Amino acid sequence: MRRAEERFDAAQVIVTKRDGGELSAAQIDWVVHGFVRGVVGDEQMAALAMAILLRGMTTTELDYWTAAMITTGEQLSYRGLGKPTADKHSTGGVGDKVTLPLAPLVASFGVAVPQLSGRGLGHTGGTLDKLEAIAGWRSSLTALELVNQLREVGCVVCSAGSELVPADRKLYALRDVTGTVESIPLIASSIMSKKIAEGTDALVLDVKCGSGAFMQDMASARELARTMVEIGRRAEVWTVALITDMSTPLGRTVGNALEVREAIEVLAGGGPEDVVDLTVALAREMLNGAAEVVRRGETSGEDFFSISPRALEDADPAEMLRSGKAMDTWRAMVRAQGGDPLAPLPVARETEVVRAINGGTLTRLDARAVGVAAWWLGGGRTRQDDVISHAAGVELHVKPGDRVVRGQAIATIHTDHPELIPQVLAPLEAAVEIGPPAVAVSRGKTVLERVW
Ligand code: URA
Repeated sequence: MRRAEERFDAAQVIVTKRDGGELSAAQIDWVVHGFVRGVVGDEQMAALAMAILLRGMTTTELDYWTAAMITTGEQLSYRGLGKPTADKHSTGGVGDKVTLPLAPLVASFGVAVPQLSGRGLGHTGGTLDKLEAIAGWRSSLTALELVNQLREVGCVVCSAGSELVPADRKLYALRDVTGTVESIPLIASSIMSKKIAEGTDALVLDVKCGSGAFMQDMASARELARTMVEIGRRAEVWTVALITDMSTPLGRTVGNALEVREAIEVLAGGGPEDVVDLTVALAREMLNGAAEVVRRGETSGEDFFSISPRALEDADPAEMLRSGKAMDTWRAMVRAQGGDPLAPLPVARETEVVRAINGGTLTRLDARAVGVAAWWLGGGRTRQDDVISHAAGVELHVKPGDRVVRGQAIATIHTDHPELIPQVLAPLEAAVEIGPPAVAVSRGKTVLERVW
């Protein structure tokens, strides 16, 4: 029976949720599919999203909602590929370029990484925007190209086609303008519906926590992480989440081409410690997930993989980065998508150095303020169709815990539009806090907690 063909009254569905009732599977399926077909109006869906934000969802409703979202579009499958698949999703942060080294790193161990990504909106950057800084690189692949590239190269980072969870595309745009983004069940079902439809066997979630993230405190980061992990488990996707620090930008660059450059440093065995640590931690989880998927395939006899779970568990991602093999996979991935991995990256026409106004210890370098500055400079977009600058961004010369002297370079602004510099100078200076030299600031951990 196609539940979507049953008829309900949208106002009644809204009232049920508004009054704290539980929606049935049939109501949820009808309302989600009806919204995509235009039978349920934007104003009705907006009211329902607000009722969900205020009342929450039960576990049963959440699973039905996620399943209904998935069935509004196509579902990918990698059966017959001969490799386990593992993916990572980040809830979005400032300077988060980890996908770039991570996908080729994990693929170098024989695990297929299908990364269907989005573009940035607001102060957090998007992976596709970063990769588009590479001359010739294209984000759009057909399903056949995607599978062929997974077979031959091992990893793909591409745009999710319009057929993957169309309900989410429409609902997210509505939530964005109706104050209903910040609902844990709606965020969790939005992210997990896309990842489940993408067809990955194992999924590692990077839930960012801090000023530069959606989730600003540990309690809400934990709740989001736990909600998503449980949706994944119930959908039989091996899922784990790492809650990671986003109080300060990740690495030393924020902005598309600047971040690609830093990702390449990591692939060359160098790069900032926090980016390397997070890349290795996420790779470790993806390899463990892939090992478990291989084991399950062996037990059930449903899937055959020519890879041993022990080899994946014993693999050393840090050593793989040092060996340069992940760099070879990166170059192959970029070339397979039309890019030239050796072409020079775009460079901004103007730079301006921000200097310390006094000496001491850097006690704070606020992620959100730096992200907003990079966005103002043209590195991010306000609307999905905005054209962005690949060269724009902010380069950071110090991190919290570093000693600085008066006049020392703290950051460099990169832009093609020097008239924008005065607008970002004040917020960038306000992002920086310098305490007395004797203050000891621990550098803090990048991975705060594992939710399993
Ligand atoms: N990212 C998504 O994909 N969906 C949300 O609802 C929030 C962040």
